[in-house]
Amino acid sequence: MVINIIDFNKMIDNHLKRENRPKGIGRYYPSEIGTCLRKIWYSYKFPQDIQPELLKVFEVGNIMHDFVVKVLKSEKNPEVELLKSEFPFQHQLNDFIISGRIDNLILVKMANKSVLVEVKSTGNVDMVTKPAPHNAMQLQLYMHLLDIHDGILLYVDKRNLKSKVYTVPYNEEEAKKILERFQALHDHLKEDKLPDPESRADQEKLWMCRLCEYREKCYKETVRSAKWM
Ligand code: SF4
Repeated sequence: MVINIIDFNKMIDNHLKRENRPKGIGRYYPSEIGTCLRKIWYSYKFPQDIQPELLKVFEVGNIMHDFVVKVLKSEKNPEVELLKSEFPFQHQLNDFIISGRIDNLILVKMANKSVLVEVKSTGNVDMVTKPAPHNAMQLQLYMHLLDIHDGILLYVDKRNLKSKVYTVPYNEEEAKKILERFQALHDHLKEDKLPDPESRADQEKLWMCRLCEYREKCYKETVRSAKWM
């Protein structure tokens, strides 16, 4: 007979619980910019507590990051030298700041080059056939702002540690478009103007809506139409 003397699920929830500090207009985060602009806008205007399930997903990402750092640091892998695994980060652009601790990024030296490695944990690496656009966008921004123009996306399977690596070529034009997204977000927040529901215009981005905590609000504010799925 199994006797439950501890409720470990509850203990994990307690351990991961964090205060939800409202985000201030004028400070933006690279980890969000590849997602839906409307969703980010809502998160400033109508902050919500992060669901415990989502906190656990984030924690798995942190655990995976630490594991990848260990592999890269290992003296059994002398072809790669770990240079940096934490990036406190601040970039002033016009009247706002792009900031945050970039916690999924690693800098290594390989083949005599400095290369940024962005780590993503995935539920099934066999389903990953190309870099996800929002992941590539984030890495493009880091390459631009950190002035390191070689970057790879490393996907690691949470179930079995199988991995895939994709090189993301630096593209200055794309990086500038991402900075324009920050500007658009800032302008919409300052003017209290709701952005378009951009993820509902693109079949490839519609998965973001399925996971979106503002879904109901969004569909109420912009009803389904030929333009917005
Ligand atoms: S439901 Fe989709 S389009 Fe609307 S805010 Fe959420 S992610 Fe964006």
